[in-house]
Amino acid sequence: MLNIVLFGPPGAGKGTQAAKLVEKYNLYHLSTGDVFRYNISNGTELGVLAKNYMDKGQLVPDKVTIKMLESEVEKHPEANGFIFDGFPRTDVQADALEAFLSKRNTEVKVMLALDVDEDELVKRLLLRGKESGRADDANEEVIRKRIQVYNRQTAVVADYYSAKNKYIKVDGVGDLKEITNRLFNAIESI
Ligand code: AMP
Repeated sequence: MLNIVLFGPPGAGKGTQAAKLVEKYNLYHLSTGDVFRYNISNGTELGVLAKNYMDKGQLVPDKVTIKMLESEVEKHPEANGFIFDGFPRTDVQADALEAFLSKRNTEVKVMLALDVDEDELVKRLLLRGKESGRADDANEEVIRKRIQVYNRQTAVVADYYSAKNKYIKVDGVGDLKEITNRLFNAIESI
């Protein structure tokens, strides 16, 4: 199984690049943000809960997020592997993922971290807010809050994988195809 954590701040291009990795490696793309948004648009209990946090740019609590992630993985026993996009976002989530995968005799093979500077992130997110109508992209204050949450709570997850020699930083600025090729090369180098 090829399990990849696609990492990076909001607006780094995780969703866009995940689609390219899915095509090439036949993996299942699991974006926790997408699952929350799906639940919000369907008015589920989970969606109502998640919306409170997402609208403020805060993280949904670990317990809820981990339970949701595990149930999503369990829905796809046929998968060749997973691209985890937007998960793990805390050390607690990283520990939970490791324990969960090891029970299934598998593991995270690599964390690919898209590196993009903050000004570029804000620019991209404001544009996405206009184009996609995503509520948390429409407001610069919420965008800055999400980047702050990333820097304070999520960036440390890179150290978690770095300590296991599973961390690869990839330049996330430039031509989309070129970034995709950088990711392919990183995977081939494992
Ligand atoms: P994303 O689509 O990955 O940018 O996520 C959008 C929002 O969903 C985040 O700002 C959080 O509020 C919530 N979210 C997504 N993934 C997680 C996670 N792993 N842990 C906690 N909250 C999350």
